[in-house]
Amino acid sequence: MADCLFCKIVQKKLPARIIYEDEHSLAFEDINPQAPLHVLVVPKKHIPTTLEITIEDNALVGHLFQVANRLAKERNIAERGFRLVMNTNPESGQTVYHIHLHVLGGRTMHWPPG
Ligand code: 5GP
Ligand code: ZN
Repeated sequence: MADCLFCKIVQKKLPARIIYEDEHSLAFEDINPQAPLHVLVVPKKHIPTTLEITIEDNALVGHLFQVANRLAKERNIAERGFRLVMNTNPESGQTVYHIHLHVLGGRTMHWPPG
């Protein structure tokens, strides 16, 4: 999608600190990290919010979790624990309308979230 920030990162039209890439997904460091590890895992396909995920996307969305798990293991936070977050629409705090899985770790998380 032409004016989507994360599509531009996927297409390498905007820079990002990319830490993983495959045919269907990209993972890069969040520009404003909220934890020692804060990575965003995005599908290369433009999906605006979780509400637009269809049955055709089931494998793709599962794949995002596989990538997140791999990164957590590589960064040695899998056993300690980490948090996966996907915000939907304004009250959740979603600001970029291309779905992305936040992978947050390296510190103790709090609950309930803010
Ligand atoms: P949301 O609030 O939509 O769940 O998450 C959007 C995330 O994207 C935020 O954590 C924000 O810091 C991050 N972000 C916004 N613009 C950029 C950017 O240009 N580059 C990178 N790497 N992250 C961004
Ligand atoms: Zn997009």
